[in-house]
Amino acid sequence: MFTPDNLRKTLELFNQKIQDKKDYLSELDTPIGDGDHGNNMARGMDAVMAADLSGDLPDIFKATAMALISKVGGASGPLYGTAMMEMMKASKESNDPEILLKAAIEGIKKRGNSTEGEKTMLDLWVPAVENLNNGTLNPATIEILVEKTKDIKATKGRASYVGDRSIGHIDPGAMSSAYFFESLLEAGVI
Ligand code: ADP
Ligand code: MG
Ligand code: MG
Repeated sequence: MFTPDNLRKTLELFNQKIQDKKDYLSELDTPIGDGDHGNNMARGMDAVMAADLSGDLPDIFKATAMALISKVGGASGPLYGTAMMEMMKASKESNDPEILLKAAIEGIKKRGNSTEGEKTMLDLWVPAVENLNNGTLNPATIEILVEKTKDIKATKGRASYVGDRSIGHIDPGAMSSAYFFESLLEAGVI
């Protein structure tokens, strides 16, 4: 169940992981993208940490979404921002993580014109929420999902420009999304 306190804790943990792994995320983005994913996410999470995260769930999700949308250049900003905006809307009716995360997925799909199997963050989000539903979401299964993105050929985003050469590499957005789900677990949301 989401509470304002465990959502703020999730964002703090996510920020720590993003700042710690900033260089690694940009390295992952180098062979199949433009090498900026870590920098983009670190800039965005700096802005989230500087935002006013007081108030109820919708207030916190909204402040997070606005910071990410305005501060992250690149595809990941609007996509993470949309995910947070959809969770904001859903959190007015429910605090069930599965309901909110599913709303986020629908938002990412619509904004990105994308679906699972295209080597994007959705290849973390969609199976992670399935695992949550059947009680098998934990750090080990999250790691397996990240590794599985190596096998996929990219058909969306910058990685699609390198075609078959995207195979064999972890998707950077799936990796940063893994940090988000790990943060949700560590904060006790899920
Ligand atoms: P950019 O590609 O603009 O430099 P980033 O490097 O910050 O932006 O983010 C790249 C990540 O965004 C990819 O690894 C992928 O997970 C995600 N992504 C890109 N395009 C899409 C899309 N259409 N749908 C879902 N996720 C996407
Ligand atoms: Mg990039
Ligand atoms: Mg870029």
